[in-house]
Amino acid sequence: MTIQSIIKKAIKRLELEGKLLTPDFYAEAFCKEAQKAGMMTEDCNHVAQASKTMSADLQKEIITYRVKTMKELSRFLISKLNRTSPVKSAEILESQSVLLKRILQVVEVLHNKEASDLAKKSQELLKTMPKASQIDQFRQLWVNFLTTYDDTFLQNLSDFGTIDTKNLKESIENLNIESSGEVHISGNINLSKISSLLVASLVPSIASSVNDTIASVSQKIKKDPSLLDTPSMADEIKSAISFRIALDKDSVKEMVESIDGVLDKLSLRLIDMIEKSDNSTVEIQKIKIDLESYNEEDTTNFKIAHKKLFTIALALEENTQLLSKDLKDHSGEVDKLAVKIKNLEKELEAAKQDSKEDFLTKLYNRRALDEHLELKEAEFKRYGHNFSIIMFDLDKFKDVNDNYGHDAGDAVLAAFAKIIKDEAREVDIIGRFGGEEFMAVLSATDTKGGVIFAEKVRRHVEKAKFMYKKERIHVTVSSGVSERKKHISVQAVANSADEYLYKAKNSGRNKVAYK
Ligand code: GH3
Ligand code: MG
Ligand code: MG
Repeated sequence: MTIQSIIKKAIKRLELEGKLLTPDFYAEAFCKEAQKAGMMTEDCNHVAQASKTMSADLQKEIITYRVKTMKELSRFLISKLNRTSPVKSAEILESQSVLLKRILQVVEVLHNKEASDLAKKSQELLKTMPKASQIDQFRQLWVNFLTTYDDTFLQNLSDFGTIDTKNLKESIENLNIESSGEVHISGNINLSKISSLLVASLVPSIASSVNDTIASVSQKIKKDPSLLDTPSMADEIKSAISFRIALDKDSVKEMVESIDGVLDKLSLRLIDMIEKSDNSTVEIQKIKIDLESYNEEDTTNFKIAHKKLFTIALALEENTQLLSKDLKDHSGEVDKLAVKIKNLEKELEAAKQDSKEDFLTKLYNRRALDEHLELKEAEFKRYGHNFSIIMFDLDKFKDVNDNYGHDAGDAVLAAFAKIIKDEAREVDIIGRFGGEEFMAVLSATDTKGGVIFAEKVRRHVEKAKFMYKKERIHVTVSSGVSERKKHISVQAVANSADEYLYKAKNSGRNKVAYK
């Protein structure tokens, strides 16, 4: 390829790239085409060649700034030289340092303690020719200050006006402190505090409502405490105070009147009570007359109400004394009555003791049974008359109570008593031993005879229709039989009968057990 064709291609390239045919653009295009054609292009690499001799930092910058031509390279180097001129740098450094000091002095006098302290310390540091690391430390402190700075506290003043945080002086000058009520006169008297105290003191302490005059004066003072300093307001306050006192007075009067009403009722009741009591001693008459006379007096006066109360208390005291005296006088009679009651109680107890009948079944009770047994025992010992004892116990009687109620249980006990009585002979002794246990003492009867009787009762009970409130209750009875001759004492016979009863229960109930 000839030089001419490379020149042509270079011009064409510029046309395609839309570039002007300046020497720099042309040289660049020529070099590219020459390289493409494989020609020696040493002249094209002047910049690269030249930069090789420079420091690594400079070489990096040449690449970064895309320095392509020697002209650009020379401009780049000139600007570099200009900037790094030691004299110029020193001058710039000096003036920056002075500016920094001035700024720090300004910050020190501004109204922020933290910034001011830091500015002071920074100035001291600068005086000591600090190392870069020390300056860096302080730079960090300033960064910290800036990132943590919080001026929201200024918003607390917003009640008093608009706060422009960029212009505190003007904001503070424009604050509407007067309307907020914080009015100070003579430098130490706070009118707003006095005004709120005064308003509170104007509220009646006894009466429940506030009158219009008081309300309007209170409103005025609240709104503008500085009015307190005006003579017209002094008069208004005076009249409000009189109103306040008048209101309280009225309330007291009302209260006294209502207390008085209660006292009147009380005294009438007392008089009524005294009149009804038989005791018409002179003292009571006196109290009565006293109370009556108090009733006629003026009722609106608190002193009189107080006096009435005192008199009533006195009358009551005297009356109580009379009553206690009366009681003392009659204490002999009361003691006699107490003795009488005791005697009656004793008699009642004795009557109970004498009773031989069980209250529910009308059979012999336990005491009567014991007496009969004693007699039978005596007969046995003297004449050798045998007798048997049969112990009866109703089966599962607890269930009867549980299922039908205690009244039903009582009715069953009474019905059973009738059955056993029906089956017994007249000479037989039948009693209720306790609860749902019964005892039969059969004269001139051995175990065999006793068993016959017990069986009769058992069968009768089994078949009987125990009715309670139209309900049929199934009842069975178990019993144990024992005769006197086979034992050494009457007690042993009773124990044995009980033992067999226990066996009857254990062998399935509704049974008669014996030896
Ligand atoms: P068992 O077959 O083992 O004799 O069973 P039971 O439920 O009859 O035996 P227990 O001795 O446990 O219960 C007796 C019940 O009898 C308990 C008690 O409430 C009842 N009872 C005792 N005296 C009376 C009474 O005077 N009237 C009534 N209604 N119930 C009574
Ligand atoms: Mg029992
Ligand atoms: Mg039982």
